[in-house]
Amino acid sequence: MTDTRRGLILINTGPGKGKTTAALGTALRAVGNGMRVLVLQFLKGSWHYGELDAVATFGQNFQMKQMGRGFVKVGGAETDPEDIRLVEAAWVEAREAIESGEWEMVVLDEINYAISYGMLDPAQVAEALRNKPEMVHVILTGRNAHPLLVELADTVTEMREVKHAYQKGILAQRGIEY
Ligand code: ATP
Ligand code: MG
Repeated sequence: MTDTRRGLILINTGPGKGKTTAALGTALRAVGNGMRVLVLQFLKGSWHYGELDAVATFGQNFQMKQMGRGFVKVGGAETDPEDIRLVEAAWVEAREAIESGEWEMVVLDEINYAISYGMLDPAQVAEALRNKPEMVHVILTGRNAHPLLVELADTVTEMREVKHAYQKGILAQRGIEY
């Protein structure tokens, strides 16, 4: 065991609900400790999530940005070039944010989807994580986390679906899903 302070790589993955919300809970905890936290949301864009307004009340130390359009057509050849462009732009910003020293925690929300849809090269992400500044915490969310990233991460949690309201035909609820 070591009590040395260091930045960790965390992954929230798996089919159950709670990947993004657990990352936001961790972000809240970090902000409460006076840390500066940036949340970059890959793919998200069209829905208005309550957390955007909540985070805005925290000021400069807690920032959240939607980097996508909120819907993505899946499947290699069918992927809209505009979505790929947005993912690439999000990744450039993410890498710069991690390297900048400006943020003590960077959350890359839904980045695992961008990777598993073939829109972002996992080796590139792995390289940036390997070379990240020592003290920066990085959290990656989304199903199907790439094995390369799972291996690199310090803490990996797989959300298991026991059941979900959606299966009963209950649509997304304010305060729970958005
Ligand atoms: P949350 O943002 O609520 O923590 P998540 O990040 O784990 O969810 P995502 O894969 O990002 O899940 O999907 C986001 C949306 O899909 C949320 O509205 C969530 O409620 C819903 N969702 C997550 N898991 C399931 C599931 N197993 N069945 C149906 N809908 C789900
Ligand atoms: Mg999510």
